[in-house]
Amino acid sequence: MNSKERVILHSDLNSFYASVELLNYPKYRGKPFAVGGNQEDRHGIILAKTPEAKMDGVKTGEPIWQAMKKCPNLIVVPPNYEKYLYYSDRVQKVYYSFTKQVEPFGMDECWLDVTGSQRLFGSGKEIADCIRKIVRESFGLTVSIGVSYNKIFAKLGSDLKKPDATTEITKNNFKDIVWPLGCGNMIMVGPATQRKLSSIGIYTLGELANSDERIIKKMLGINGIRIRNWANGKDNTPVTDYYYEPPIKSIGRGITTVEDMKDSCSVQSVLMELCQEVSEKLIEHGFLATGISISIRDNKLQSRNYTARLEYPTSSSIEIIRVAMELFKEYSWDYNIRAVKIRATNIIRDNTSYQITALKDVKEHEEMVNLENAIYKIRGRFGKKSVIYCNMMLKRYIPDDKREMVIMPSTYIAEQKRMYQK
Ligand SMILES: [Mg+2]
Repeated sequence: MNSKERVILHSDLNSFYASVELLNYPKYRGKPFAVGGNQEDRHGIILAKTPEAKMDGVKTGEPIWQAMKKCPNLIVVPPNYEKYLYYSDRVQKVYYSFTKQVEPFGMDECWLDVTGSQRLFGSGKEIADCIRKIVRESFGLTVSIGVSYNKIFAKLGSDLKKPDATTEITKNNFKDIVWPLGCGNMIMVGPATQRKLSSIGIYTLGELANSDERIIKKMLGINGIRIRNWANGKDNTPVTDYYYEPPIKSIGRGITTVEDMKDSCSVQSVLMELCQEVSEKLIEHGFLATGISISIRDNKLQSRNYTARLEYPTSSSIEIIRVAMELFKEYSWDYNIRAVKIRATNIIRDNTSYQITALKDVKEHEEMVNLENAIYKIRGRFGKKSVIYCNMMLKRYIPDDKREMVIMPSTYIAEQKRMYQK
């Protein structure tokens, strides 16, 4: 196998809900068996079924009464999601013992990138067979695994042989395995797309792969190009590590205003709005800033930056604004200002303990934090315009397409301007 080639597994727990339930009801093994919602309420549909039920024509998603008509011996038990989550989690831990790159897709499916695991654990197929054995022997559940050089074919492969099987799709065999299949076997090709494709005589993935790119693009747009590429094995999307957190160092917001700003008051109002957005982002992601930097650019495109360390870590917009305003005082005007940016720097997790004694006034700080949280709750519920700082009601320098315009009586604006003019 080419050394640059990726090795991707798609592992799919077979009839997941039904298999988990059968662990509790072993006497129903080998009989038509299904998990379904309550027959009395409207959720009374088949959620999962065993292959035996499938042979009698039982379909996932159909009402229980309809399934019972086709299969009078069908045994239906209610779902138990906590139990499914438990097994889903345990099986994922098995995957993580082979690679850190695991991307869950629903409760019972995962992609695994095992490219870097082969020296330790063997080829993709060997890893797949090993995973199947562990899952079977540890939990009494089975998985079907597709092994391929991209995510699309790996997923397709896991559907081909069930239960408890490994299917390998390589660059050498994909034309024999994938191309004879109907288009609907590939992820993202739903009934609507299938109908459109069949209207121009495309039924199999091979026909899609060899179709005229221009015709596909005209009919299905960019999505058409994508699925056509996929049918040719061209898919580079990575297996994203679900638990990976990028090391964010700063959160910033900047804006080029709709017209040049000629006075401090205007710049301050824009800075305040940006500060509030930065604060909201910090809170949303659970971060605190330990520094603030602002960047001011004039209409000759000269930029100047000012930075400050904070006395204590914070996510409060009131505190961030205070520091940003202090920094802006250092700016000396040469030309009118066109763009401003504010950045919360050296951010840390908000559960990082910091010395509370460093606070000048703990009570004042706590009150401010409480006030802020109340404001964000209101903004979250009633929209960002529901609570704003009053000097944000001045002339709007932020582009209209970004936010709606707030128009205030001119006397009010004049009064506000006087307050801030230096
Ligand atoms: Mg499954």
